[in-house]
Amino acid sequence: MEEDESSGALLKPLVFRVDETTPPVVQSVLLERGWNKFDEQEQNAEDWNLYWRTSSFRMTEHINVKPWQQLNHHPGTTKLTRKDCLAKHLKHMRRMYGTSLYQFIPLTFVMPNDYTKFVAEYFQERQMLGTKRSYWICKPAELSRGRGILIFSDFKDFIVDDMYIVQKYISNPLLIGRYKCDLRIYVCVTGFKPLTIYVYQEGLVRFATEKFDLSNLQNNYAHLTNSSINKSGASYEKIKEVIGHGCKWTLSRFFSYLRSWDVDDLLLWKKIHRMVILTILAIAPSVPSAANCFELFGFDILIDDSLKPWLLEVNCSPALTLDCSTDVLKRKLVHDIIDLIYLNGLRNEGREASNATHRNSNINAAKSDRGGLDAHDCLPYESLSFTSRMYNKDDSVVEKAVSVHPKAAPVSQLEGEMSGQDDFHLSTKEMAQSKPKIRSRHTPHKTLMPYASLFQSHSCKTKTSPRVLSDHGKAPDPQAGNFVLVFPFNEATLGASRNGLNVKRIIQELQKLMNKQHS
Ligand code: ADP
Repeated sequence: MEEDESSGALLKPLVFRVDETTPPVVQSVLLERGWNKFDEQEQNAEDWNLYWRTSSFRMTEHINVKPWQQLNHHPGTTKLTRKDCLAKHLKHMRRMYGTSLYQFIPLTFVMPNDYTKFVAEYFQERQMLGTKRSYWICKPAELSRGRGILIFSDFKDFIVDDMYIVQKYISNPLLIGRYKCDLRIYVCVTGFKPLTIYVYQEGLVRFATEKFDLSNLQNNYAHLTNSSINKSGASYEKIKEVIGHGCKWTLSRFFSYLRSWDVDDLLLWKKIHRMVILTILAIAPSVPSAANCFELFGFDILIDDSLKPWLLEVNCSPALTLDCSTDVLKRKLVHDIIDLIYLNGLRNEGREASNATHRNSNINAAKSDRGGLDAHDCLPYESLSFTSRMYNKDDSVVEKAVSVHPKAAPVSQLEGEMSGQDDFHLSTKEMAQSKPKIRSRHTPHKTLMPYASLFQSHSCKTKTSPRVLSDHGKAPDPQAGNFVLVFPFNEATLGASRNGLNVKRIIQELQKLMNKQHS
């Protein structure tokens, strides 16, 4: 037990709860941070602070969550993570808000309902293409890891099955060393009401391990980029052209590679951010309200040879297994999630009060975090501190205590947090430096945080004007570790996400951004 310097009270560590599905890296990170593991035999049923498991929680578990507790899933998110539901929601958004914004999902038909439509589309396309072939992919709506997938060109190879989607196969993927790849982008939604979305600045690029070849559609090692498939392939260990050994790169290595070919990686990154926001907006108004929970999503994105990003699917509980050295980033990802969730926790993580007063403090902190308290009910700001983690070139962790001392009113908080921005730039830079540089013909971008920086610089300019605040009087933090805030991204969207989500207004703002990018 430690003594809290500011209050003199005795503190005890936070407690995490896991089950047999919890990824081992989560447990190891929390132990490393000084948390204790929940012991069902020894402890009261409610004596835990974070419950992290792979499967979703029942609604009763959400309803019964205590103010000092957090769950790692939000109810209602299968609307995004089931392939058929995702397709339906995005189709609905396209009908409502136009195709120009929602053109990032390949043409999709949900079986068996869309069977006739698919057949009509297939034969119409065949007629148009003449002797050229068209390509389709059949995917089970609920399965993952590439299981049950079929790619076909000829209608006679198509097997109709319930619970499948049939999708246009992107047959012109961006190839690296003639290998297909897709991106795994980590996205954390810390709340749906108000909607708050963070994108992780680092991610994975997953490669097929055999060269792309449209003349053999049965070769999963050439057409599917799932690492669960490719790690068992004969070519996995081989040193492959450009991509090297294994089947994964980090996102920063991928962007560095693109820059070496004079590709505008920042523009691509902006498009990805926009796609993430538009996708989550499709379900945000209909997810049930739930306090004290967050969701980590894995967005799978394929880039075609014209650098257009396509959304393939959204995963809940994205794999956190550490299969190879590139996967090490998942450790930092988990650290950064904890930083993100507890950033506004109004007490030192790992130093929870053991007495009744401090239990109340925890309750208040949690309430305040989720909009349950008025600003004046909060704990003294001096107790807000967190640990910022930065990575050395060799991936070893440098811990840096960061204390946040906001000035008097909550309106000044954003400005206070913005002063920590340099730390972030440093960590991003260090991260980039630690990766093997391929060929940089021009200066790498200082940072890849377009929307967050837009939001920050906008806030800078309006220091004296009244700021739109969240329900609990506080704008979301612009960053935590490598997580950057992508929504809300300006004051208009901040306003449009409070007191009910004004999707139309948000879409207008996104459209403006898109027009600006085009011009
Ligand atoms: P799963 O949940 O089984 O992983 P995905 O939708 O992610 O299903 O598809 C698995 C892999 O198949 C992807 O990683 C990608 O390589 C490939 N793939 C999926 N859909 C398409 C598509 N429309 N066009 C091209 N490749 C695709």
